[in-house]
Amino acid sequence: MKSSLQKILKIFKLEAERGYDNHAVMGGLDRLLDHWLPEARVDGIPEDLIQIIENRLRDYPRLSPTSRAEALEGLIKRIQRGGAPPPMETIPSEPPDEQQIERIDLLLESTLDEQVQVEVSETAPIPAPVPEVRPAAAAWKGEPAALDAQVTVLPGIGPRHAQTLARLGIHTLRDMLYYFPRRYDDYSRLKPINRLQYGDEVTVIGTVQSVGVRSLRNGHTQMVEAVVSDGTAALRVTWFNQAWVSKRLQSGHPISLSGKVDQYLGRLVMNNPEWEPIEQQQLSTNRIVPVYALTAQITQRWLRKTMNEVIMYWAPRVQDPLPPEVARSARLIDLPSAIIQMHFPDSWEELENARQRLAFDEIFLLQIGVLQQKRAWEEQTARVFETEDAWLEEQVAGLPFPLTGAQQKAVADLRGDLVSGRPMNRLLQGDVGSGKTVVAALAIGMVVRHGAQAALMVPTSILAEQHYKNLLGTMTGKPAPSEDGVGALPPMLQDWEIRLMIGATPEAEKNDIRRGLAEGWIKLVIGTHALIEEPVQFANLQLTIIDEQHRFGVEQRAALRAKGENPHLLVMTATPIPRSLALTVYGDLDLTVMDEMPEGRQPVSTHVLAPRERERAYALIRSQVKLGRQAFIIYPLVQESEKTEAMAAVEEHARLQSAIFPDLQLGLLHGRLSLDEKDDVMRRFRDRDVHVLVATSVVEVGLDVPNATVMLIEGANRFGLSQLHQFRGRVGRGGDQAYCLLVPDAPDAVENERLQVMAETNDGFVLAERDLEQRGPGQFLGTSQSGFAELQFASLTDVRLIEKARHQAQALFDQDPNLAGPQYQPLTIALRRFWGDGRGDIS
Ligand code: ADP
Ligand code: MG
Repeated sequence: MKSSLQKILKIFKLEAERGYDNHAVMGGLDRLLDHWLPEARVDGIPEDLIQIIENRLRDYPRLSPTSRAEALEGLIKRIQRGGAPPPMETIPSEPPDEQQIERIDLLLESTLDEQVQVEVSETAPIPAPVPEVRPAAAAWKGEPAALDAQVTVLPGIGPRHAQTLARLGIHTLRDMLYYFPRRYDDYSRLKPINRLQYGDEVTVIGTVQSVGVRSLRNGHTQMVEAVVSDGTAALRVTWFNQAWVSKRLQSGHPISLSGKVDQYLGRLVMNNPEWEPIEQQQLSTNRIVPVYALTAQITQRWLRKTMNEVIMYWAPRVQDPLPPEVARSARLIDLPSAIIQMHFPDSWEELENARQRLAFDEIFLLQIGVLQQKRAWEEQTARVFETEDAWLEEQVAGLPFPLTGAQQKAVADLRGDLVSGRPMNRLLQGDVGSGKTVVAALAIGMVVRHGAQAALMVPTSILAEQHYKNLLGTMTGKPAPSEDGVGALPPMLQDWEIRLMIGATPEAEKNDIRRGLAEGWIKLVIGTHALIEEPVQFANLQLTIIDEQHRFGVEQRAALRAKGENPHLLVMTATPIPRSLALTVYGDLDLTVMDEMPEGRQPVSTHVLAPRERERAYALIRSQVKLGRQAFIIYPLVQESEKTEAMAAVEEHARLQSAIFPDLQLGLLHGRLSLDEKDDVMRRFRDRDVHVLVATSVVEVGLDVPNATVMLIEGANRFGLSQLHQFRGRVGRGGDQAYCLLVPDAPDAVENERLQVMAETNDGFVLAERDLEQRGPGQFLGTSQSGFAELQFASLTDVRLIEKARHQAQALFDQDPNLAGPQYQPLTIALRRFWGDGRGDIS
């Protein structure tokens, strides 16, 4: 350890021995700084550590002995850790007035004593709910109940402020701790005024030379003007419409200013900077400053100050739910420090550590919940469906093609689930065109032949119709005429035992279907959201299947399942997810991956074209249409707005129709069309009335038009590889050679190389792994599909963190699945809090 640190540590320890009387150094500990600061800098001690020590010591004389003890202990630990933040860290706040000091003290004492009911003042009783689970172990000291008290217990916060805070979702002290800044401004870089440059974002410290207010000519605007000097130069500072500033600023007083350096009439100025008198603790300037989301009647400055008071006192009192061995082996900082650093980071690095910690917690809690969920499901019973070899062989023999190895394995998995006596909970993941439908059809067969019911839910009506048509042929032994049918299984059902239910189904027919399902004579229903939105009841629903499941939300899946009593559940997706992620996101599901394509598929011939080569793409489309084929042209989401996306497609559609393909029928499909309009245009495309379908990314979902052979994707650089792969999967479903043409917005070597991967492989998993490396997983995971949507800190990009949290959760779960050990009490409470608000069914 550097000698300057050793020296200061010695002094701190001496001070501790003296009972924190501020006499370990003559004249007080803050005197130490004059000598120590230069020495520490020569020693090369990191500047942020120096600053922390300086800040604490400057305040030290004004602290109570308890706070002094905390401050020094924090510093000692921090120095010993080489600068990492301590578990407890107290920046004392400056109490506003006598009466309030009393209230703070009252509050502090009461909570420290762990009193449960305390009257803090006449107006603000602490409700102080007792933690539901009383600690058994001595190690668990519990959190002060006041953490869950209303914010009105705070000095200076009355009912009016409380109401305003409630609008931000802040009700209790704990809510404040978790009301994290929206962003941060870095004002930690001090600069002398004579070195300022236009555009700098800086903090300046100086003395007020003069202050004045004047009204601008328009009469509406008041301007406060001050000159601040720091000995190197003077700076003109103005505030608009903040006349009160002039009353607070006084000539001769030191202040710090933070903001952007601007220029006015050739001179450097600052407009509307954040400022504060310098003897105050510097919350708004001279550091990385939190910027909170506000609401009317609250100022940034007020909230910051209030936050600071609450956080510095209460964060250290938050119980860390992570078992220490987990925190240690995952190398995480403790929760109190993380909360403090999230609000008032000492450096960007500390902030990142804090984020990591909070993100870890989210995944960890999510994962433990998922594991418990999975176990709970495994404990349930479900109806047993026996499938004899002979029956299965007969079915498979009836197919027009042999099953791929992957399909056989998937069928075996499903058969095993159905006979297990526990509800199936399986995710079937298989690339576009890998043949999931026939696997699902066999599973349906295994269930309906025993007289039970099955339901298949898909995201769009057109897809529902497609499945209906295929399954109707398959299950009744009369294959659909389409080239794309699954083929026939030996007849298992009659026509009237299979029905389609979508939004557009006429009411009378819906009634009939409802009756059939309730009476049990309809065995298989295929439909959209209508299945869960309509008041549909089943007599004996035993198998629920969801196709293209990433298009569905959690609740929708749960809603379908709730139509039966512990029915078996199969969810299918064409979105290849790297295994690491799948295990986390779908950790409660068993996973079957179909990683093999049916034989004889011609890979889609894929090319990356430069924008100026677009004409070649049009030529290809023309020649394919001449051969009787069809084409898609996709336009990307230009901005995060369906509107602009739709506009791009609308404009391009008009242009293509008039200038490029005047002789062809062009259709237009985008997200702003009504469901009926969408269905209509897709139907016309399917029926070949439309040659070229101009579309936005809405076509991504399983639309099956085997006659389409060209997929032209404009702005291809804006899509992830996985999504491009989904688009590509829309063509090449018939037997003909198909083409996928990728045109980026602008020629760009790096982009080109990324897109080139599409030309090199047709393997969705390879592309997904590439995507994950290059762009993170966001684009191939729908966000609505899992608990991940609600996560604040954890990002799916951070695979390493996810893996780490998952491993830790698994290890802990293996050791003590019920978290029965008394040391897990805080974790149990945290889990309940995390899962409490309706995350019962996350994947
Ligand atoms: P997806 O997995 O994308 O839902 P589908 O189930 O729609 O794929 O199958 C795509 C096409 O492949 C269908 O036309 C289907 O008939 C055909 N198919 C499925 N399995 C096989 C197989 N084992 N051999 C040949 N063709 C198959
Ligand atoms: Mg499919």
